[in-house]
Amino acid sequence: MTQKKGIAILGSTGSIGTQALEVLESYPDHFDLQVITAGKNADLLITQAIKHQPNSVVITDESQYLYVKEALKNQDIHVYAGAEALCQVVESSEVHVVLTALVGYAGLKPTLRAIEAKKTIALANKETLVVAGELVTKMAREHGVNIYPVDSEHSAIFQCLVGEFHNPIEKIYLTASGGPFRGWSAEQLASVTRAQALKHPNWSMGAKITIDSATLMNKGLEVIEAKWLFNLRPDQIDVIVHPQSIVHSLVQFEDGSMKAQMGLPDMKLPIQFALTYPDRLPTTFPRFNFMDYPQLTFEAPSRDVFRNLGLAYDAMDTGGTAACILNAANEVAVEAYLNDQIHFTDIARINEATLNAVQSQSTPVYEDFVRSDEEARAFARGRIK
Ligand code: NDP
Ligand code: MG
Repeated sequence: MTQKKGIAILGSTGSIGTQALEVLESYPDHFDLQVITAGKNADLLITQAIKHQPNSVVITDESQYLYVKEALKNQDIHVYAGAEALCQVVESSEVHVVLTALVGYAGLKPTLRAIEAKKTIALANKETLVVAGELVTKMAREHGVNIYPVDSEHSAIFQCLVGEFHNPIEKIYLTASGGPFRGWSAEQLASVTRAQALKHPNWSMGAKITIDSATLMNKGLEVIEAKWLFNLRPDQIDVIVHPQSIVHSLVQFEDGSMKAQMGLPDMKLPIQFALTYPDRLPTTFPRFNFMDYPQLTFEAPSRDVFRNLGLAYDAMDTGGTAACILNAANEVAVEAYLNDQIHFTDIARINEATLNAVQSQSTPVYEDFVRSDEEARAFARGRIK
């Protein structure tokens, strides 16, 4: 028996985090849960800690530290609080793999710290690569750290590349479900409610990524994520709408041959593969049945209606901190939409205005990303009545 992998789950109380805990629970001989962290959901963090017995927990919201500490006083578990603690816990020598399941820009700093500490990264937090992909991948190379994708499309590409790493990629196709508003016109989109936008046809996910899927920003973020993960030019990355979400993405090689990775939509599979690569462990997940899917269909995304996808390509063309600016605007706009402050179509409008107005910094270092993020947030907030 090889040594168990020590796992830190940043964002254990979220959609990816809770599914990751299910995966770990299924393979007690393979994994050793070291760290779990929450943003604000102290009660779920406490329940998870008592059930899964990690070595340490972090509640990022410091005001809840005493509450968590008190609830876990009879457990052999270290309790920490605050954003800096999140960075420190990943450095523990018992941690081998850090699963970044935080949402948004908050994932950047702990991911960089985990890379500096030479931890393998299982990356769900796509915003980290969108914001600072150049810096993150450069640091990973310098520290000899592997970044394994959790995002289902990128996991699909990664799975297609196993055994092919020496063969150049001609292009990749990222599949998109199209979200709940596939085929809708701009006029129809103007009046969609939050409840409609939060109802994804195929995946159950956290609120932010569900809205991003409805606006196609998620696919835009994924295009940028793919550029950095697989070292591709923007013209090598295409998006194809595939409403059934069975083909998770495709790679086209230089001989014209294409490989696709398929399966029922279940995030536990890519989470597990990122934690066990290069091995595959047996699962009891439901199996695909062809008779349930007599047709797998593909169509072009509607870029005129869903402007966010094009904005992601614009940000890649500009380079520097442009993608960081777009991401910051989008985080502000999605939060405002979830708080009923703006309309659905305002999200792309705010993103576009911010990307055009805030100056991108070329050849950025970490501080430039922090500054661009702050500037873009301030500008985007100013656009919200
Ligand atoms: P959720 O909103 O469900 O969970 C987010 C997690 O991050 C929670 O544990 C939350 O804590 C924590 N968190 C939020 N803000 C902060 C903060 N400022 N500091 C520290 N912790 C914070 O998100 P998902 O699980 O859906 O998504 C996580 C990431 O994975 C995202 O980047 C998303 O794009 C990506 N992803 C998700 C998929 C999915 O199926 N859900 C699929 C592919 C990618 P708390 O709730 O306690 O406040
Ligand atoms: Mg995805």
